[in-house]
Amino acid sequence: MSLWYALGFLLLLGLVQMYYLGPVGRPLPYSEFKTLLRDGRVAEVVVGEQTIRGTLKDAATGSQGQSKQFTTHRIEDPKLVEELESRQVKYSGEMVNRWLPELLGWLLPLAFFVAIWGFFFRRMGGAEGGVMSFARSRAKVFADDEVKVRFADVAGVDEAREELKEIVEFLKHPKKYTNLGGKIPKGVLLVGPPGTGKTLLARAVAGEAHVPFFSLSGSEFVEMFVGVGAARIRDLFQQAEAKAPCIVFIDELDALGKARVQSPVGSHEEREQTLNQLLAEMDGFDSRKGVIIMGATNRPEVLDPALLRPGRFDRQVLVDKPDVKGREDILNIHIKGVKVSAAVDLKLIAARTAGFAGADLANLVNEAALLAARNDKTDVGPEDFEAAIERLVAGLEKKRVMSPKERETIAYHETGHAMVASLVEGQYPVHKISLVGRGFGVLGYTLHLPTEERYLSTRKQLMGELAVLLGGRTSEEIVFGEVTTGAQNDLLRATDIARAMVTEYGMSDALGAINYDGNKRARFLDVPIPQERGLYAEETAQTIDSEIRRFIAEAHAKARQLLVDHRTQLDTIAQRLLAVEVMDGEELRQILGVRPGDPANPPPGLTAEVAPG
Ligand code: ADP
Ligand code: MG
Ligand code: ZN
Repeated sequence: MSLWYALGFLLLLGLVQMYYLGPVGRPLPYSEFKTLLRDGRVAEVVVGEQTIRGTLKDAATGSQGQSKQFTTHRIEDPKLVEELESRQVKYSGEMVNRWLPELLGWLLPLAFFVAIWGFFFRRMGGAEGGVMSFARSRAKVFADDEVKVRFADVAGVDEAREELKEIVEFLKHPKKYTNLGGKIPKGVLLVGPPGTGKTLLARAVAGEAHVPFFSLSGSEFVEMFVGVGAARIRDLFQQAEAKAPCIVFIDELDALGKARVQSPVGSHEEREQTLNQLLAEMDGFDSRKGVIIMGATNRPEVLDPALLRPGRFDRQVLVDKPDVKGREDILNIHIKGVKVSAAVDLKLIAARTAGFAGADLANLVNEAALLAARNDKTDVGPEDFEAAIERLVAGLEKKRVMSPKERETIAYHETGHAMVASLVEGQYPVHKISLVGRGFGVLGYTLHLPTEERYLSTRKQLMGELAVLLGGRTSEEIVFGEVTTGAQNDLLRATDIARAMVTEYGMSDALGAINYDGNKRARFLDVPIPQERGLYAEETAQTIDSEIRRFIAEAHAKARQLLVDHRTQLDTIAQRLLAVEVMDGEELRQILGVRPGDPANPPPGLTAEVAPG
């Protein structure tokens, strides 16, 4: 501990000073000194600023064996020199060296503050971090064999698992890929609602590839001091590079990777420094060494766009809530090690737990086991699972577990989107329809577009998109004769598109090819800047509104016509969706009798997914 060394050194200094400068010899009162002087027993004196030191003549020592040396405090005595001369005493002056006491006067308070400072840092740095080591990474290093998780421990997220298998291959045989000049991906971002197994999957990748796994959580950085987070990131990457091939996993990436904001009070200084450091490290990193950076978040929409650029987290893997089959598989994993009675039907439990994530199911099994134990049973029976489901559903109410009526409404709503998307011209083929709520701010009808690119759209395509957005609501209207609040987001987006068509793209015949919106859409943010009306007359504003209404009405009529014409298929698909929860685009097109790319001529590689928002 350097602090103790410093204190020890100070103590030593003090002792040295006492030895050299401290009073030497027997202390005498001044009066006695004067008497001795008058008696002629003083041999020699050194007159200092505050003291007089001297030696007595041999004769004066007497029998007590007292020291010949003496010291006395000097007092105002102008006649002293005369007296010394008259007694023929050798005398000299002395310049006192004051640097040491003065230095000590500074050092002692300083040492005191250093001690307090060190104490606080030690407390903040946690158990293993002292004053000198608090900047070191707290990343936990798991050695090769320490990650015991395998893909077999994760279920219900087959698509994500398939994508990650490739990463495992890269980590196992990096040479195989780089020899041909291929680039190994640098960053993989796992995106999905809480409890779906993102952390588990990341660990499984390390486990399968038998590589070290470094993990940090974004939230750990939040409470740090300026510069410390950045230092930790630097340190983490240094460690990782030394251990390559390995995985660096940053959990809860949103906590540190929130979009940087221009704020007048620089209150996010630390997070931004940390984020900048992370971006710099990712850029400066050579992925051929075999370090793969994985991140996880359940709030992808707040992430700084810079994190998602090519060369950073450019691969995004969706870890979604499981469907019925997935839930059964997850239950199967978690009942290992639990004594479950033969009467328990996991299929039934899976069917009863729509909307549960993996973590909820793990919790369910545990809860059921606890209930059984409380009732002194020898195994966990169906009634325990039943009770546990009831208890959890009550607790999950806030997380919105669907009622049967709600499920049906949502099934028809999503089917409406998907059918219009498949039947209208110029839309991307539907890849998958899902009844399982994402619950993390993803819009009802989602297009998986490459993050950075935007394609030129024709008027026809935009009208088609409007029809697709309105398709959900229109389907509810046709089937139930009323609409729910679930379509709010669709309407918002549809209105946005229609407004842009009228005011920005000049697609309205009534208004002509004029941009009425100024240049207000911030180019790179992709977010319209808060409404502030452009420079145009009140009349024009009215025309704009009526044109927007006309576009929406036209799209609505189109969607309605398509759905009414295919009413039987609408029912078939919605009922099928209620049964399986997730349906792929192929099956949808079969029921509809459309071949992929039939009415549409979509750009290759782009697909749409339909799921409740
Ligand atoms: P996330 O990181 O997505 O919030 P976690 O990976 O932390 O979720 O999941 C917490 C726990 O829930 C896991 O340790 C595991 O026991 C269970 N779990 C979650 N998802 C799954 C899954 N897909 N398969 C098996 N178990 C899961
Ligand atoms: Mg997690
Ligand atoms: Zn919708």
